[in-house]
Amino acid sequence: MKHRIAEEDIERFQNLLAVEMIDFDCGKLCAPINNGVPACCDNESVVPILFQEEYKRHWHNGRFWKRAPKTKEIKKYIKEHEDYYVFSQCPGTGRCERPKRSFNCMTFPFEPHLDRDGNVAGISYMNSREIECPLMGKPKKIYNPEYISNSIKFWNELFAHYPEEKDMYMGESLKRERRAKRAGKGFKLFRDESEKRRNAFIVFVRTPEAGKVKTRLMKDLGAEKTLFAYKTFVADTMKISGGLKSVDKFLGCFPSTADNFLKRLAGKNNFKGMFAQEGNDLGEKFINAFNDKFDEGYKKVVIIGSDSPTIPLDFIKRAFEELDRNDFVLGPCTDGGYYLVGMKKLFSKVFKGIPWDSSEVLNRTLDKLFAGRIKFSLLPFWYDIDDIDDMNFHKRHVKYLRKK
Ligand code: SF4
Ligand code: SF4
Repeated sequence: MKHRIAEEDIERFQNLLAVEMIDFDCGKLCAPINNGVPACCDNESVVPILFQEEYKRHWHNGRFWKRAPKTKEIKKYIKEHEDYYVFSQCPGTGRCERPKRSFNCMTFPFEPHLDRDGNVAGISYMNSREIECPLMGKPKKIYNPEYISNSIKFWNELFAHYPEEKDMYMGESLKRERRAKRAGKGFKLFRDESEKRRNAFIVFVRTPEAGKVKTRLMKDLGAEKTLFAYKTFVADTMKISGGLKSVDKFLGCFPSTADNFLKRLAGKNNFKGMFAQEGNDLGEKFINAFNDKFDEGYKKVVIIGSDSPTIPLDFIKRAFEELDRNDFVLGPCTDGGYYLVGMKKLFSKVFKGIPWDSSEVLNRTLDKLFAGRIKFSLLPFWYDIDDIDDMNFHKRHVKYLRKK
């Protein structure tokens, strides 16, 4: 059999799920109404499923789980389901110990809910008719936030090993959404609030004022047309960020936040806040913005400008992912600058002494990253719009994107 999960991954998954889900023994709620046995542990009504490697690990560590007897029904299940499951039997609550529980035991009564992009948006109650679980439907506040966070991490990692599981839960998630829509009410989705606190996304903008924005473009388009174009860039850039999950979004404005157009956009696109950029040059403005967000407790901070309104959402998502493995991330621009910069701790030196109005920004920044031995990652190249040539290409690019 092909091994999909390594031993150390199983151990990590078990540790993730081992944190207390709730701070009371919920078995006491359901056992009295289920012949004295917690409903989800009742061999009469439940056939626990273990992953092959998980089963083997438990087997080597004390032979706790057994294979379920191959009744007619189980045979049907085995036939219908993928070969990576082991349909099992628990020897009973009397012998239950925390390390012996399966992933299934530790995630019940939840399952992952995936968004349309295939990301685990949170956990939601299973749609189980077989088990009468008194926890189902209870509010989020009774659950340990660390458990919710760990469970989401677990599913995300598990799906990397079992894409079939991801497809299955994607289907279940769509069904859940359809059911909720039909019923005219939402469903309980418990998101990872701790993750949200960890990620900050900032869009740097200029307060839109005729004659003060995109001066190189203004030479050809005039002040009013340039202002209109710039407002469109800002609106489009902020709209892209609507696809970001578990991220707090901020608008960094220069010189001031006192602008109704920006305020309206921030509200419409669920930005958490606006602030005025502070500093004498772009480098200082970056340093101050990063510093403030790290001080507020964010672990990963990513900033983009508003000159690349067609930047793919995927690049921004990748920037946050790259910060899991790196300390610094840059989105390089074809004109020698960068459209995105992200960090998980402050490296002020990288932003000092950079000739910001030149095509040397990217090269000089890279030199500083190498010199400082900073672990960094580069995203794919993209373009920004500074002058009429960029604008002419941008128009055609937008036309192309609309056609796709
Ligand atoms: S999770 Fe639900 S079914 Fe299982 S023991 Fe707790 S209350 Fe009972
Ligand atoms: S291992 Fe424990 S939690 Fe899991 S089914 Fe058995 S008794 Fe219930």
